[in-house]
Amino acid sequence: MTDAHLHLYDCVQQNPDYTSTWFCYGIPCVLSAWNREAFDYHWEIAQEAPRTAPVLLSFGVHPQMPAAAMPDAFALFERLADEQKIDAVGECGFDLYDSRFRETEQIQEQLFKAQLAVACEKQLPVIIHARRAIHKLFPHTRALKKVPAVIFHSWAGTVADGEALLKRGINAFFSFGNTVFLNHKWTVRSASALPVERLLSETDAPYQGRRGCSSSCWHDLPLIIAEIGRLRTDQAVQSRIEKNFYKAFHGYDF
Ligand SMILES: [Zn+2]
Repeated sequence: MTDAHLHLYDCVQQNPDYTSTWFCYGIPCVLSAWNREAFDYHWEIAQEAPRTAPVLLSFGVHPQMPAAAMPDAFALFERLADEQKIDAVGECGFDLYDSRFRETEQIQEQLFKAQLAVACEKQLPVIIHARRAIHKLFPHTRALKKVPAVIFHSWAGTVADGEALLKRGINAFFSFGNTVFLNHKWTVRSASALPVERLLSETDAPYQGRRGCSSSCWHDLPLIIAEIGRLRTDQAVQSRIEKNFYKAFHGYDF
């Protein structure tokens, strides 16, 4: 199993015992941070990771951040990218879900462009957060085509949106978490119809609990993967998702 997107530091803030169970399990994963404390914690964890289960590190300016905190986060992001301490950029992108976030649309736009430029220069994959904002990505097609991979975390777009991104030559991967259980029409259709070699699994732990659960964790992964397999009536989906993980984040092909 593989987890394309989670926030381990935040899991541990909620439950100090989280890593003792998680780490033993040794799941290849990408730990995403948007502040110094989280990144430093993830860095320590990655140093101890077994070779068989790589722990990759991602850093980005989250589009839900307050505008005042964004410049500092971007400065740290640039420094970490320069020091080659990150394996991926993000999560970054756009959140236009409600008026609170729509207020920062301009700065979200500037910072997305700037982060994408760094990803192009350093040739790093990009993890995208896009809520009510898929349309904001198409104008960035030229830059998105130049990065090694674009991972859409918690994909909630339509099958047509996904196919359009692929048709434009973007090396896109679509990651699904507990939202596959929510009966959200587009998510379910995308998980069942997008090309299997483009699918990833994630927990977004602790932020995407199953219905009735306040948080998500690695225990959810086998259930998420099984549900994707059920939607596609494809038993081999787990090994395919694992191969996709290495392709998206390492450029390995199988
Ligand atoms: Zn997240």
